[in-house]
Amino acid sequence: MLHLESTYSSLPAILYRPAKVLPVSAPRFVAVNQNLAKEIGLKPDWLLRVETLSLLSGSMESSAIAMAYAGHQFGHFVPSLGDGRAYLLGEIVGPDGVRRDLHLKGAGRTAYSRGGDGRATLKAMLREYIVSEAMAGLRIPTTRSLAVVATGEDVPRERLEPGAVLTRVARSHVRVGTFQYLAARGEDAAMAALIDYEVARNFPGAPEGPQRFLWFLTQVITRQAKLIAQWMCVGFIHGVMNTDNMSVCGETIDYGPCAFMDAFHPQKVFSSIDEYGRYAWDKQPTIALWNLTRLAEALLALFDVDRSVAIAQAEAELRKFLPAFETAFEAGMMRKFGQAAAQDGDGEFIAATLMAMTDGQADFTNFFVAISEKKNLRSFFNTEEVCAAWLRKWQAHVPAPDFALMNSVNPKFIARNHRVEQALEAAREGDLSLVEKLVYILAQPFAAHEGATDYANPPLADEVVHATFCGT
Ligand code: AMP
Ligand code: MG
Repeated sequence: MLHLESTYSSLPAILYRPAKVLPVSAPRFVAVNQNLAKEIGLKPDWLLRVETLSLLSGSMESSAIAMAYAGHQFGHFVPSLGDGRAYLLGEIVGPDGVRRDLHLKGAGRTAYSRGGDGRATLKAMLREYIVSEAMAGLRIPTTRSLAVVATGEDVPRERLEPGAVLTRVARSHVRVGTFQYLAARGEDAAMAALIDYEVARNFPGAPEGPQRFLWFLTQVITRQAKLIAQWMCVGFIHGVMNTDNMSVCGETIDYGPCAFMDAFHPQKVFSSIDEYGRYAWDKQPTIALWNLTRLAEALLALFDVDRSVAIAQAEAELRKFLPAFETAFEAGMMRKFGQAAAQDGDGEFIAATLMAMTDGQADFTNFFVAISEKKNLRSFFNTEEVCAAWLRKWQAHVPAPDFALMNSVNPKFIARNHRVEQALEAAREGDLSLVEKLVYILAQPFAAHEGATDYANPPLADEVVHATFCGT
């Protein structure tokens, strides 16, 4: 049997509640990630065992806990959220010495379910599986997906949907909202304990003493700045960057209505619940900063007994976020154009290019593939002249592009919405072959995958997916 630890349970009891086992009627694996299993130190046949199926469907007795958190959802503070349809099964330590959470999503009601049924749909769990593994393939920090188990039970949504449980693997499930939960209750001692816990797990090199709290904030800020830059360099839109969906260790978490852009537009939004474009592609840095400001507010009492001193310290750290983001974004974008080291004028060059791409409705991914492979660029621009002018601009700014670098950073394959939707619909009807093919390709998004042009092409007019749904 797998040895599951539970160090999170050593934290103050306000942070979690025991989770009940709720057996499901007919569990069946629909996706298993043997590569990840190996990476995190599970035995090769572990995912094939009957007791594993039982464990990962949430049907086996365990010391699982549902975690408490609060969160700003679309700007509104909800003091009590928590794992309403998920719980922490336990932790394992991999061959790399990294401790990872095994988390079950869709495993039934918990103390934090409020009005919800605690269940998740097969489509939503496979969606998270596909997109999180695509992000891992792109080398972007993310929670991972180990398995999806169909429960054999339907869950009522807009229509009846087959239910499923996802096993999520993460370096931590501590969110900005976890600290907000404690701050809203005046639990300063628990907050200090939680920071010490998270630092010991995921932030090596912390100073001793009280300055470690501000140091922690700085680290979280730095990691988020890099993460958001990485998202934007592949056209990723998270879609629901609420503070409860921001992991402090810097992993992308909570794949709901997230999507990759096809045709570039900076204000692109997919989520059907994001009416006002709060979480649009180009809003992600300012929203991340907004969320980090909420984190800083929650931690204030730990920075200094004098509130005004604490505020000044926090503000000084928060001011570093946008410059750190800009630096990471510009460096990431310039690598896509074949330039390894920053130089003057990068920002202007990127802005001018993005403007031309917007006008030409250029496919974000294929534009960079085309320049990496020296293909004809005409179709990405409105006119021959704009295209020629842009080429001259690129040549002037990057006279000797490093094509090997470009090929190593410009993916040929992203999780295109129309392919994801098609694969999920097929899975709902019992055909898993498209999900498997998609996951296979997206695990190696920089490889050529001869013959997979269907997966590289943007959608035809009648294939475009305009909105994605939270699909809880
Ligand atoms: P999410 O939109 O997935 O980030 O979830 C926001 C909050 O709603 C979290 O506290 C979830 O646990 C909770 N939630 C979402 N779906 C359900 C559900 N079906 N049953 C219970 N709680 C849910
Ligand atoms: Mg969430």
